[in-house]
Amino acid sequence: MSRYILGIDLGTLNSCVAIVEDGHAVVLSDDGRTTIPSAVALTSERELVGHSARRHAMTDPRNTLVVTKRILGHPYSSPEVQAARERVAYLISPSPMGGVLLEAGGHQLTAVQVAARILYLLRDIASRTIGESVKEAVISVPAHFNEVQRRATKLAAEYSGLEAVRLINEPTAAAFAYGYRRGENFTLAVYDLGGGTFDVTIMKAQGDRFEVIATDGDAYLGGEDFDHAIMDWLAEEFRAENNKDPREDEAACTQMKEAVERAKHDLTEVESARIELPYLLKLEDGNYAAFERELTREKLEELCAPAIERTRELCARCLESAHVRKDDIDAVLLVGGQTRMLAVRDTVREFFGLEPRRDINPDEVVAMGAALYGYSLSADRLRDEAEEAAEEAFAVALKQTAKARKVVEALDADSQGDAELAQRLSHVMAEAEALPPMVPAESDQDLPAAVEGLRQEMSALQEKLEQVADETTESASEEKAQPLADAVEVVGDWLARAERASKEAEERFEEAEEHAKARKVELSDVVSHALGIASAEDLLSVLIEKNARVPAEKKGVFTTNQDGQTEVEIRVFQGEDPRASENELLGDFVLTGIEPAPRLTPKIQVTFSLDADGILSVSAVDKRTGAQQGITVKEPLGLRGLSPEETESEID
Ligand code: AMP
Repeated sequence: MSRYILGIDLGTLNSCVAIVEDGHAVVLSDDGRTTIPSAVALTSERELVGHSARRHAMTDPRNTLVVTKRILGHPYSSPEVQAARERVAYLISPSPMGGVLLEAGGHQLTAVQVAARILYLLRDIASRTIGESVKEAVISVPAHFNEVQRRATKLAAEYSGLEAVRLINEPTAAAFAYGYRRGENFTLAVYDLGGGTFDVTIMKAQGDRFEVIATDGDAYLGGEDFDHAIMDWLAEEFRAENNKDPREDEAACTQMKEAVERAKHDLTEVESARIELPYLLKLEDGNYAAFERELTREKLEELCAPAIERTRELCARCLESAHVRKDDIDAVLLVGGQTRMLAVRDTVREFFGLEPRRDINPDEVVAMGAALYGYSLSADRLRDEAEEAAEEAFAVALKQTAKARKVVEALDADSQGDAELAQRLSHVMAEAEALPPMVPAESDQDLPAAVEGLRQEMSALQEKLEQVADETTESASEEKAQPLADAVEVVGDWLARAERASKEAEERFEEAEEHAKARKVELSDVVSHALGIASAEDLLSVLIEKNARVPAEKKGVFTTNQDGQTEVEIRVFQGEDPRASENELLGDFVLTGIEPAPRLTPKIQVTFSLDADGILSVSAVDKRTGAQQGITVKEPLGLRGLSPEETESEID
């Protein structure tokens, strides 16, 4: 088992992978680039993932699967999937079970399979960098990710050959990267505006205890929306001039998106950027309209103002639910590429009355936090492993030294000219070889001191060996000199091995000490959506409130609404709308075996258990009969239509 647990930020547009080395988070790179596009391109001959897929998208957007994180865990009929269909160039179709299939290069993939391919690439980058196969990861997910999306992420990890030892909310990971090792008490706001989503999180750190107080966000608010606002302006300008809408042409959309994103980035540095699109669209006369526009920073800010304003509203709502005043916030952390935009930073500064922190690269901070969290989870295990390795190495050093000691002592005793030297030597050598394995004594608890002691003995033995060898060689006849020289060489090898092993013991011991210094942090997070069950009148009975602490267990007692009813359907929803059907259906099951009784008499106890990854199990029991049913939302709706065999064969 590799000693590394990867920290993975599986982003909508870009992903990032980090490890912890010597107690510090290190972001890994693919050819020098640390952000890796979350894109998969498929053609009839090959499959491209990451940078190559992103390049491929320029010429073949129909067969390049991008922004699939927005689809992950959603059923085909969901607004998320329908909105994605409008925006992406590839084909999205329903699977027979109500899930979603994405088409590229004549293949059909689920969003889980796409995520698995990206995770596989990240794992591969890490394994190549480290030089060993890595099997575990802490993977970040947006705080607002629902139950099904979390499951989908874990499933994708599984398909990529990784165990997601923990899912961590992205803003929590960012805050953790910031607060780890500080050992201070502070209240932090994390403003996370990435390519596809926005999250705001308020958290408190008290030394090594990190507590998320509240989180809010919008799954459909990110850099992509900024780009689309600019594209709409550009398209309208084009239409006014040429009476044609470039948004109706796929290739024109790809061109506009590229140009707009570039201009948006440039405007972080300069006041004005020129968008030149000479081949945007062919006009009726067969010629291209020479189209170009100047995009000023002011215009950019005007176009993006509604999106930025929405983030401000969500920040206010989050503070309110956290019962935290702006004055109580000690630091604001920016995460996500879109926070590079000056107007975004200005808004954050103005809203919180604080200069936002940018200590850590906003593209890398989440992966670093995830890696640090993985490290803190595994530090004890790593320390134990390193200690064990140190002891094993020390045992090797002890054994080799003992062998050398035996021979040197025999030689020393025999150095007065033993006639049978050669014969005796081979006997002693065999005895030395047969020495039992050595274990460090209790008194060797202080390993560095024990290693030092052994080192001194080793060098004394080496000296003695040389001295005895010299003396004996002088007195021994030529025929005896050769076996002696051979023995000296072998014993010299033993001592060299002892030296190497003692060095290894020291290094592993230092490593163990480093791991022992790792902070054991306590991380407590909150649930981003209310969870409940539907009543007969389509009302949502909430069992776990939004922003409740995770893990959580809540029970509620329900009853029947018809006389003689022997079964009830338990439908589990997630969301804030009082009408159950307006929320996201996570799963359903039927509790049977209820004893017939007049309506409102049976007592059905429903238990919701939310684990540390935010994954829900629901069970129901009829208190009178003891009949019990439950689900772990094993096959959530958004994942239907996916068979593991199909996935595995495609991944391997
Ligand atoms: P992320 O999902 O965190 O990788 O963020 C990607 C988003 O950040 C994309 O929409 C990018 O266009 C946007 N972005 C990256 N750099 C800049 C920049 N310098 N100015 C404005 N937006 C940027």
